[in-house]
Amino acid sequence: MDDKVVMVKLKPGRDKPVRNRHPWIFSGAVSSIEGTVKDGDLVHVADSHGRYLATGYLNRRSQILVRLLTWDADEVVNADFWRRRLERAIAGRSRLAKDPATNAYRLVHAEADRLPGLVVDRYGDWLVVQCLTLGMARRRHEIVALLASLLAPAGIYARDDAEVRFKEGLPSEVGSLWSAEPPDRVEIVEHGQRFLVEPKRGHKTGFYLDQRENRLRVASYCDGADVLNAFAYSGGFGVYAAGAGARSVVNVDTSAKALALAEENLALNGSPPQEMVVGNVFQVLRRYRDTGRTFDLAILDPPKFAASQAQVMGASRGYKDVNLLAMQILRPGGLLVTFSCSGAVSADLFQKIVFGASVDAGRDVQIIERLAQAPDHPVLLTFPESAYLKGLLCRVW
Ligand code: SAH
Repeated sequence: MDDKVVMVKLKPGRDKPVRNRHPWIFSGAVSSIEGTVKDGDLVHVADSHGRYLATGYLNRRSQILVRLLTWDADEVVNADFWRRRLERAIAGRSRLAKDPATNAYRLVHAEADRLPGLVVDRYGDWLVVQCLTLGMARRRHEIVALLASLLAPAGIYARDDAEVRFKEGLPSEVGSLWSAEPPDRVEIVEHGQRFLVEPKRGHKTGFYLDQRENRLRVASYCDGADVLNAFAYSGGFGVYAAGAGARSVVNVDTSAKALALAEENLALNGSPPQEMVVGNVFQVLRRYRDTGRTFDLAILDPPKFAASQAQVMGASRGYKDVNLLAMQILRPGGLLVTFSCSGAVSADLFQKIVFGASVDAGRDVQIIERLAQAPDHPVLLTFPESAYLKGLLCRVW
């Protein structure tokens, strides 16, 4: 153990989550910081008796005072440490790396890969990196050098413009970090479907990689169906539905730019044009209900309605309303594919919300399949917060 590293002492009885290898220490659990330490520095965490528990990096600006990296007192957090962690994350995606039909996936999923605050997404030859915490932002240079040597990409780009960085006192930063800057649009392939991704200005790092397996799964129900793709973004589910023989697809999104990209993505796959509706899903679905327009399959993939526990009530109302509307425009025996990516809304609560909508709709609703985030977005058992995306594939009678 490095004696030069400052000790953060916990209050009595607050050591259990740390012993259970949860990676976060909230400021309320800490009794003292025994020495001077700069935000972003490494610290040792000890129980109330001063016994070593774990090592992590600290930021007083955040409610999450320490994010833990290792529980081994003898493990030194140096370049070699980061290399081992990155190698492990990369090894965990080896199956995807070998798949010739897919070249876009998440390489590092932050806390769940024991690299708190770090996201690395691969789009073909390009890497897009997000350092969401001060501790990781301070080590970005080191991480980028390691990624370059381990993966030899065409270039590495920073999308450090995510809102969560403000909670860490970090500014918004985008730009090239290593070698060439990616073009505005990068063509990727996912299960053989081609997509244009905009890594420099698209949502997240450019694409909703977490829905990859769900897009494929849902496609298997689309043959001959009239499909509603609500919250369509760049047309992910719509492109798959076309490829799987859907009779018609309506894509709805508030972003005209996203739908313009969806049109290009359809053309790229040789699929005929689909109906694109720029508008608010809540209003568009209400209009369809009132005018009697119906569908065989409706996909609801809304943005995160609840960013924190405090927003769960309001978010629940939003989820219920939109699910009720979708049930009302489904033909008897039609399918509802409904998602929530709000980590604060548990799978259990989400099911209750959809149940509430089914009662109000007066429809019998059966769960046919339960869906989750793609396997390149793993859920670490000691960090259940890493399970954020849940979906229900339901038959609506
Ligand atoms: N299903 C997509 C990802 C959806 S992300 C895929 O597979 O790639 C959520 C989308 O919802 C974003 O494109 C955002 O522009 C859109 N959006 C957010 N609020 C909306 C609303 N009220 N009505 C319509 N679209 C909305």
